[in-house]
Amino acid sequence: MIIELERGRQSTLDQIRDLAVRFGNRIELSEGTGVFDTILVIGDNREFAARIDFIRGLPGVQAAWEASAGYNNIARVVRSRDGRAVQRERRIVEVRGLDGKARRFGAGKHIFICGPDSPQTLEQTLANARLARAIGEKFGVLDRVMLRGGAYKPRTRPTDWRGLGMKGIAMLDAAREDTGLPYVTEVMDHNLVEQIGEHADMLQIGTRNAQNFDLLEAVGRFGKPAILKRGFGNESEEWFYSAEYIANQGNLDIVLCERGMKTLFTKGGYCRNQPDLNACTHARKQTILPVIFDPSHVSGDHRIVSENALAACGHLVDGTITETIHTEEFRQDQLCDASQAMVMDAYSRLVEAILNFEQHVQPHLLAINRMNSVV
Ligand code: PEP
Ligand code: MN
Repeated sequence: MIIELERGRQSTLDQIRDLAVRFGNRIELSEGTGVFDTILVIGDNREFAARIDFIRGLPGVQAAWEASAGYNNIARVVRSRDGRAVQRERRIVEVRGLDGKARRFGAGKHIFICGPDSPQTLEQTLANARLARAIGEKFGVLDRVMLRGGAYKPRTRPTDWRGLGMKGIAMLDAAREDTGLPYVTEVMDHNLVEQIGEHADMLQIGTRNAQNFDLLEAVGRFGKPAILKRGFGNESEEWFYSAEYIANQGNLDIVLCERGMKTLFTKGGYCRNQPDLNACTHARKQTILPVIFDPSHVSGDHRIVSENALAACGHLVDGTITETIHTEEFRQDQLCDASQAMVMDAYSRLVEAILNFEQHVQPHLLAINRMNSVV
């Protein structure tokens, strides 16, 4: 539902806001160019929309219309059935660390998420976190560094190691306590969203659960920021609708993550999943959500992770989530995704390269985009 309201009509605005809250929705207000502001009603707004005639009659309301069906909560452009359109601002998703600094996805600066595939020991988890912090300090980008680590692991084979569960979460908590860095961790079961979410700063929905609708809705209801990986066989539209499942519960703090797909061509062993970099650009144009890239799971081999990460920077992603290892000696003991983890000193060079790209190359890309009217 989109409402155009004369600027300064405070009591009508309050009335619309109250009505939205009554039905579990909330409003997003954007200043229009003329004398009207635009109000978007966020969430599953069927009950609210049933009152459209009442809304139209409120003082100062110029127009109210229902958005045509689609992923309206996250769409960059929301259209009515009769062709009217509202373009929305891109969203910034904030994750604050214990260090008091907010990591701002979508604010124009690359966010660096790194850490082990999975916490296995306290020593390993702390070592990764301390090295990540040191990299952030070295390049003056601590407010852009975040940790990752999946304590609950989706595994193809039931006999494979599946993570330490809450014990692993405790290690991530300790790493946060030690370094002040916030962390993201995967949740696979809608019954565990609260239990894990009370600890984690950000929740990750993995590729295998990208269309687990109960899980998406539970993460939406919980309300903490989330990374939504694209399903390895999902079309971009399906990915956006998965995000809409979260957003429809009122949580718009979603970061989309491209992590490669299974294709006919991923069998030769030279790449684990085929990256779809154009999907990153497409997602940025179609949705208001920040878009990040996972160079680790597309690669499967730590020696090609940096190429993939830099390639994604060419598609103007808002960040990367990269699997790291604190020391080469640990690789033989890593129980999941051992071969794709980047050693921290190599990762440090990658961070430096991305920062150089951001400073020297990205302005040219943005200028070309402006020439092509791409936003
Ligand atoms: C992971 O991040 O370790 C992971 C399992 O990712 P994906 O869901 O993309 O395979
Ligand atoms: Mn992994």
